[in-house]
Amino acid sequence: MKEKLQSIREEALKQIHSADMPEKLNDVRVRFLGKKGELTAVLKGMKDVAAEERPKVGQMVNEVRQEIESILDETKKKMDEKIREEKLKAEVIDVTLPSKKNVVGHRHPNTIAQEEVERIFVGMGYEVIEGPEIEYDLYNFEKLNIPADHPAKDEQDTFYINKDIVLRTQTSPVQARVMEQGKLPIRMISPGRVFRSDEVDATHSPSFHQIEGLVIDKNISFADLKGTLEVFAKELFGPETKTKFRPHHFPFTEPSAEVDVTCFKCGGKGCRFCKGSGWIEILGCGMVHPHVLEMCGIDPNEYTGFAFGVGLERIALLKYEIDDMRLLYENDIRFLKQF
Ligand SMILES: [Zn+2]
Repeated sequence: MKEKLQSIREEALKQIHSADMPEKLNDVRVRFLGKKGELTAVLKGMKDVAAEERPKVGQMVNEVRQEIESILDETKKKMDEKIREEKLKAEVIDVTLPSKKNVVGHRHPNTIAQEEVERIFVGMGYEVIEGPEIEYDLYNFEKLNIPADHPAKDEQDTFYINKDIVLRTQTSPVQARVMEQGKLPIRMISPGRVFRSDEVDATHSPSFHQIEGLVIDKNISFADLKGTLEVFAKELFGPETKTKFRPHHFPFTEPSAEVDVTCFKCGGKGCRFCKGSGWIEILGCGMVHPHVLEMCGIDPNEYTGFAFGVGLERIALLKYEIDDMRLLYENDIRFLKQF
């Protein structure tokens, strides 16, 4: 019996010694000290031991048990400490290393241009109103005097969700929505994303931004439109800027015009930037068509108004002398950092 206990003890110590992780120590504990463990088996075999020998054998079993237990505990403690130490070593923070710099982003050239345009118009008493990017055909075309057979409605140019719903091709539907509410006078601009079924190139993108403006009140004339856009151009491109109105056609305005400003690079003398003409086209505008007023519930005999629309990207490209619109969407940080 004594020899058997001795060999159990030796085997247990050997296994404890070779254990390299806490889980293995636990295995040793189960194997020798557990309910079905080897020492427990010895205790169960006591019935075969002579009565007078039992206390002595019992004591020996307990001694071996205690020894194995204490060595197990001690080894486990050392092992845990070692693991902790290694973990600390791995997670060490070298306070002498230079700190990681947080890269702080800034506003996109489009956003800067938009806020600049908003600042100018809010300064003239305009409200900034946004509208849905997914729009009813009714607001995107019909209420803006764009008939069903108009080329702009072609699937070549417009993204249709279904026959009644489109991705808005302009921000003008916001004007129709505001006019319909019937709160007059109106003095608003509406910036936002618009969509056209265009191929991507240096001056086109299927998604871009517009800012539309609308004024409706009694006695609004073309002179008000000219004055307003002149102030806008001077604020945006500098006090020396001159404006020129060229007759044009839009379905929702009558008369309509396109507006050029004197080239802010050469002051109108002609340079590479303005292709020698001295002028740069920036926006479209006109007096709101009486049909549009009527369709939105406003009496064209009592009220008149003007509207204009400017491409936000066009402003950003001009202001920062960027020659390719794609650069605005690629989000290359090396490009965007420059503004
Ligand atoms: Zn020029």
